[in-house]
Order: sequence, then structure tokens, then C-alpha cells
Amino acid sequence: MEKKMGELNNYQASGKIKALTQEMVARLKWYQDNGVLSWKRTAAQESSVEQSADGKKEPIATDPTSQTGLMTLEAIREEMGDCQRCTLCSTRTNIVFGTGNPHASLLFVGEGPGRDEDLQGLPFVGRAGQLLTRMIAAMGFSRDEVYIANIVKCRPPENRNPKPDEIATCRPFLHQQISAIRPRVICALGTFSAQTLLSTEERISDLRGKFHDFFGIKVLPTFHPAYLLRNPSQKKHVWEDLQLIMAELKKKPVPDEAAGKRR
Ligand code: SF4
Repeated sequence: MEKKMGELNNYQASGKIKALTQEMVARLKWYQDNGVLSWKRTAAQESSVEQSADGKKEPIATDPTSQTGLMTLEAIREEMGDCQRCTLCSTRTNIVFGTGNPHASLLFVGEGPGRDEDLQGLPFVGRAGQLLTRMIAAMGFSRDEVYIANIVKCRPPENRNPKPDEIATCRPFLHQQISAIRPRVICALGTFSAQTLLSTEERISDLRGKFHDFFGIKVLPTFHPAYLLRNPSQKKHVWEDLQLIMAELKKKPVPDEAAGKRR
């Protein structure tokens, strides 16, 4: 396996291939760290192999939202354990796994924990989190009805941006969470969340305002609440984005809360 990881490391020609390679290396390292050095197909996986016209077997493309090998959120958290898979483990106080309804129709995905989140082990509990809570209320939901998670589960030191290898290492956990929750809509909060989920380098200002696809799940990128605290004039755009989600989920706005969000 180490030889294969070395080969993958050498195969870094373009930005997209580099990102894909990093994710594959991280995935292999994850298996290796867990003592999985080889594996056989299960019966269910075997049935997902198609016979092509020339008689060769070809795997059907799989996605993170597949029911195959579905894990509960509890099992995913258990597997994460006292995770040391990337360098963020050395500076965190708590892993911030995620919180909310395990069967939520709406999943919010932020970038990573900040100081308050790191101390409490809960996502979006600082000032930006309070704004997110008000945004959720304006949509007619409570925090307990939706699920809130982040791309990386440990706080980057001094709130720096998460690095590509940290995102690539932690991303399988988010994919497992999405598989377990199977939301109808994902609201990607901020640049890193949107770019990671959609595997793109487009700017958040170009991505927001419309739905994108994540293996059959609708993804609506919008500005991060922390950005709104610095740029309150952008709140009206976020409210437009949230209204698209509400229409998709057939949710009616809460008048007082909605008016407050637009001010
Ligand atoms: S950020 Fe993710 S991969 Fe890195 S140590 Fe934390 S839980 Fe593990």
C-alpha cells in the first residue's frame, strides 16, 4: 500500500488531479491507520460490479450518498475516536463532530470550528453561530430540526484557513455524515465549504444564488455568517439564498425573524 501511495504522490500534474490525488492518498492512509491493509468485496459490493460488453467486470460509479456500507452518526463518531489523522489534532481542544437532527432534511456545512466551538465541542456557538441560529429561525426551523457540521472537525490554529491536505483527510467523515443523514438540501456556508463539496475553485460570489448538485442532493452555497458580521450589507443576498432553500423544502418564513434578517 505504501508503494501505491508513493505512486499517487508522484502523479500530481494539474490542480484537479492534485486535489483528487491528495484525497485518495488521505483515504488510503485512513484505511492504513485503521489497520486495513487489504480488503475483499462484500456480497453487496460484488453486485455493484457490471459485466461489460467485452466480458470484463467494471465497477459502477459509487458516491458518498450511497446506502452501501451505511453507518449511523454514532458509529461514524466512534470510528473517528480521538482522531490524529491530520495535524489539526495537535492544537485542538475538542473535536467538533456536528449537532442536530440525524434525519434532517436540511444540512448546514461550515468551514471549521472557531475558538468558542473548539472550547465547547459544538459547531456554530460563537457570534457567527448566533447569527446562523437566527437565520435558521427565520426559515421556520429550530437548530434541533436541522443538522450543522463543518468540513474539518478540528479548529485550525489562530482561525487560519484549513489546508488542502487537512480538508482531504477530514472530508471522508463529512461524506459519511451526509450518507447517514441523507438531507434533501445542503446549505454550504462560505468559500471552503462550497468549493470542497462541489470540487471547484469558483468563487463563492459566483456559486451562490443557485442550486448545484452533490450526488443527487441539492447544494445551495451562500456567504458564511462570519462574513456577514463583517459585511452586513450582504445579508439580503443570503436571505435570497435561504428563500430558495425554503421554497425547495416548502417552508414558510417566520415574518418577524425574516424582517430582522433583512435589516
Ligand atoms: S480535522 Fe478531521 S482528520 Fe484532522 S484530526 Fe480533526 S477529525 Fe481528524
